[in-house]
Amino acid sequence: MKLSDNVTSLSGIGSVQAERLVKLEIYTVFDLLHHLPFRYEDRRIITPVSQIKAGFQITIVGAISEITNEYTKSGKVIQKTEIADETGKSLVIWFNQRYLARTIQAGTKISLYGKADWFGRKLAVISPEIADPETAGTIVPIYPETAGLTSKWLRKKIREVLDLNLLDESLGQNLRGVHFPNELYEIEKYRRNLAFNELLKFETENLKRRHDWQNRGVAKQFTNPKSQVTKFISDLPFKLTKSQNLAIEEILADLEKPVAMNRLLEGDVGSGKTVVAAVACLVAKLNGFKSLFMAPTQILALQHFETLSKLLSPFKISVGLVTSQTKSMGDVLVGTQALLNSNIDNVGLVIIDEQHKFGVAQRALLQHKGGTPHVLTMTATPIPRTMALVLYGDLDLSQLTELPAGRKIIKTWVVSEEKRVSAIEWIKKQKTQVFWICSLIDESESLKAIRAVNVEFESLKKSFSNLNLGLLHGRMKNKDEIINKFRDKKIDILVSTPVVEVGIDIPEASIMVIEDAHRFGLAALHQLRGRVGRNGQQAYCLMFSTQDTERLKAMETTHIGSRLAEIDLAIRGAGNIYSTSQHGKSELKIATYKDFDMLPLVRRTLSNLTLNPSP
Ligand code: ADP
Ligand code: MG
Repeated sequence: MKLSDNVTSLSGIGSVQAERLVKLEIYTVFDLLHHLPFRYEDRRIITPVSQIKAGFQITIVGAISEITNEYTKSGKVIQKTEIADETGKSLVIWFNQRYLARTIQAGTKISLYGKADWFGRKLAVISPEIADPETAGTIVPIYPETAGLTSKWLRKKIREVLDLNLLDESLGQNLRGVHFPNELYEIEKYRRNLAFNELLKFETENLKRRHDWQNRGVAKQFTNPKSQVTKFISDLPFKLTKSQNLAIEEILADLEKPVAMNRLLEGDVGSGKTVVAAVACLVAKLNGFKSLFMAPTQILALQHFETLSKLLSPFKISVGLVTSQTKSMGDVLVGTQALLNSNIDNVGLVIIDEQHKFGVAQRALLQHKGGTPHVLTMTATPIPRTMALVLYGDLDLSQLTELPAGRKIIKTWVVSEEKRVSAIEWIKKQKTQVFWICSLIDESESLKAIRAVNVEFESLKKSFSNLNLGLLHGRMKNKDEIINKFRDKKIDILVSTPVVEVGIDIPEASIMVIEDAHRFGLAALHQLRGRVGRNGQQAYCLMFSTQDTERLKAMETTHIGSRLAEIDLAIRGAGNIYSTSQHGKSELKIATYKDFDMLPLVRRTLSNLTLNPSP
C-alpha cells in the first residue's frame, strides 16, 4: 500500500465510508493521516469516584450495575445506572439511549468520560461517553467530524494506518506525535514539522506551475507605446496613486518580455485596480491585439463595460460586451468566464477580475492554442503580503497599498437589536441610497435562503413605506435591470443577498446595512462596506448583530482590509478566512499564518533540493 492510495484500499473502509470521508476532504491514505485533531482531551488522570465534583469533566473507571430505562414525566426515556470503584459509587445518567441497557451487562468494568453535575438532588455523571478502554489514561485526540464519522472511528482508523508502518521514521514520528501524543506540550513541535512539510510541497507545486507557464514558449511580445500611455494617464480625471503607478510599471515591463505575463494585482476595495487594467488594454490595442476582460458575474461585466468604454473611447479603443445573447465586436471584450470558450482570435491579453477560482482559468489558458496571452488577475481579497507570496507563489505580485487620496473613512457601528428601531429612523433622515444586505444563510443561495430574503424584504417595505425598495438575489433573471434602476435612483434601498459583495459601483450610495453581521468574516464585511461612499461623500456602515460583537467592533476602528484579515485570523484562527480551497488550488490544511515564519527555511531547503536532485 502507498500513501497515495485511495482510502478504500484500507480494510474496513467501503464506498459508504469513503463518501463520508470526502466531506472531510479525505480521499487518500495520506489525507486521512493528515486529518489532524482540533483539540485533545486529557484522560490521563482517572478520578476516584468518591472525588467527583459538579461541573468537572472527568474520567472514571469502575464496574456498573444494571442499566435501567425509566420514563420521565414528559415522556422521555432516560437510562440510569451506578458505577463503583474502590472509593465509592456514583449515579450515571444518559438520555434516550435505550440500546445501552441491552448492550452492557451489569458488573462490566467500563471507563466513562463526561461531566459530573447535579441531577435533581443527586450528583451524577451526565451523558458520559463510554470510552474505549484504550483511551483511559491517555491524551485523546478529537477530530473534525461529519455525519456518520465520529472522532472515535477516525481515531481507530488512523491508529490502524499508523501501525501498518508505511511511513518513514520522521513522518511516522511527527504524525504519531500529533495524533497520539504522550505529552500535551509536545504536540506543537510535531505539528510544526508537518506544517513545514506541507509548505515545502506547496512551494514545489507553485514552482512547477511557474515553470510550466514559462515553458509555454514565446508570447506576444509587446512594445511599450510610452507617449500614448503617458497621455492616457495625464488625461485621467484624477492623479494615480504611487502604487498604481508602480503596478503599471511592473505590468508594462512584463508585457515587453518574451514570456507571457502571469501577474496578480492585489488591492483593497476601491484602490483603483480597473484603471491599471485599462492601461494594459491600451497597450495591447496599440500593439494590435485584443483584450478579454473577465468578470465573475454578469452585473460586474456590465459595469466594467461602462467604465472601460468611458476610459478608453477617447483613445479610439472600442469596448464590447459579450453575453450569452450578444456577441459584440471590439478591441476590448468584456464578459464572464464564458469568454474563455468563445472563439475570439488575436487575443493578446486576458484580465481576470475578482475571480477566486482563477486557477481553473489559468489552466484553460495554458491549453489555448496559438501562444499564451498575457494574463493579469485582480483580487481584493485582503491578505498580508507574506501570505500572498505563498498562496499565489506561481504568480508575480503587484499590490495597491493605498487608497486614492481624499477618501473618507466609512463610519461604522455595530448596532444591537434594541437600537434597531432608532437606527431605521436615522437611516430615513439621511435621504441617501442604501444597500441592505440580508443575513448570509448559505453561500449557495438555496431556496431556503431566498425565502428568508423575501420575508425580510416584505418587512422592510413596511418599515420604509415612503421609499422605493428593490430586491436582488443570485437567482433572479433580471439582476442587471435591478442594478440599473438602483443606479438611476429609481430604487432608494436595495435589499440584497451578499451577491453585491464583489465590485458593484453605485457612486451615490452612502449607507451599507448588514444583517446578522456575525455570520460574515471581517474580510467579507470590509468588502461590503467598500460598496458605499464611492463618490467621496461621507458614508456609513451599520452592522446589525447581537453576537460576536468583540470581533465586529474591530470594524469600527480598523479600515484596512489586510489588517482586518489579520485580526480575524487571530480571533477565529486561520483556515476560516484563508481557506485556500476557494482559490481552486491544493489547500494548506495544516500550515497556518503563524507557520509562515518558516518560509525562508522552506525556500532554502527547496533550492538545495533542486541543486542536488536525489538519484
Ligand atoms: P477596485 O480596486 O475596487 O476595483 P475601482 O477600480 O472600481 O476599484 O476604483 C474605484 C473608484 O476609484 C472608481 O470610481 C475609480 O474611477 C476611482 N479611482 C481610481 N483610481 C483613482 C485615483 N488615483 N484617484 C481617485 N479616484 C480613483
Ligand atoms: Mg474592481
